[in-house]
Amino acid sequence: MVKLNSNYGNLKESYLFAGIARRIREYKEANPSADIIRLSIGDVTRPLAPQVVNALQKASQEMGSAETFRGYGDEQGYGFLQEAIRNYYKTQAGVELEASEIFISDGAKSDLGNFTDMFDTDNTVLIPDPVYPVYVDSNIMNGRKIVFIEGNEANGFLPLPDENTKGDIIYLCSPNNPTGAVYTKEQLKVWVDFAIKNGSVILFDAAYEAFITDPNLPRSIFEVEGAKSCAVEFCSLSKTAGFTGTRCGYTVVPKGIQINGVSLNKMWLRRQTTKFNGTAYIIQRGAEAVFTPEGYAGCLENINYYRENAKIIASTLDRIGIWYTGGVNSPYIWLKCGMDSWDFFDLLLKEANVAGTPGSGFGKCGEGYFRLTAFNTREKTLEAMARIEKVFANLKKSN
Ligand code: PLP
Repeated sequence: MVKLNSNYGNLKESYLFAGIARRIREYKEANPSADIIRLSIGDVTRPLAPQVVNALQKASQEMGSAETFRGYGDEQGYGFLQEAIRNYYKTQAGVELEASEIFISDGAKSDLGNFTDMFDTDNTVLIPDPVYPVYVDSNIMNGRKIVFIEGNEANGFLPLPDENTKGDIIYLCSPNNPTGAVYTKEQLKVWVDFAIKNGSVILFDAAYEAFITDPNLPRSIFEVEGAKSCAVEFCSLSKTAGFTGTRCGYTVVPKGIQINGVSLNKMWLRRQTTKFNGTAYIIQRGAEAVFTPEGYAGCLENINYYRENAKIIASTLDRIGIWYTGGVNSPYIWLKCGMDSWDFFDLLLKEANVAGTPGSGFGKCGEGYFRLTAFNTREKTLEAMARIEKVFANLKKSN
């Protein structure tokens, strides 16, 4: 009889977003007139830039004409998009890549999950806590041992390895979801040196790199010396260009990573050519437009809109006197709520009619913290933060 992958039985049910939706629904049923504002949104809300829409339309037209129709493309992506991304790395991060080190995909989530195919189940996986849940769950599915490295107020939610740290596969996410914290180049160098010394591989998630405004902060791990021998970088157009529903991402697998004489780049190419048939031509043309000066300027308008929302959230927290990370080089604000994070969720929902995300949903170390996002509209963000400020002013008065 067929046997199932029993590792799936070890996955924890994800109560986070279902739990949020249920509590909002129940509150709304009891208080039908409540105008609830969601600062829990992890999805973008602004439309695609017009330059991207034009490129998508043009490519769609091409598909309707025999002369320009395209069938299967290269599994690793079209050369025009690899070239555009290669140039983006050069201009934005000063990083030189070969086009064949860049693999186009339908998004970072699939690549992050699929990349676990490259490694034996015997490896130990090191994951910062709190964390984007995909890293944990995809390794549980493979039956790997996971150890967590603790993010906390003392390390600014940017944990670094010490002499006791162990891990063969290391996940890092910067700017981080959920904490919004960003590693400096010096901190990433500590991780790169650790990986080289221990023969580990770093899987670096740069999905939010476009939100970095501080020119001293690294937008790619490849800005760090030595990273091309030990790190793979995952990136996405979801937040850079509003592609959450359009779907396109890319993964950089440097040719310099050789494990026991085997090239990780060659292995990933083999995996992709076997199990993936490429991202749609139309979408890749839309993605190409993101990397033109006009297209990128169009995307930046949206990013700046979210950045301004983040600033509104952060400055309100400053006025109230609440400790937080993020909000400057990230669309996420991670605040210390000083109580059980679900209790804080209920408090904000009841007193301010604002929904956020309880930090405990991102790991044990997220308990006592809370995530707000900058993806709602300007009006709603302003209104939500005015309500939150009022709640805290009243709390202060009553204490
Ligand atoms: N990585 C992080 C840290 C994310 O927060 C997300 C989406 O929320 C992703 C990856 C997924 O990106 P994509 O939409 O390209 O699959």
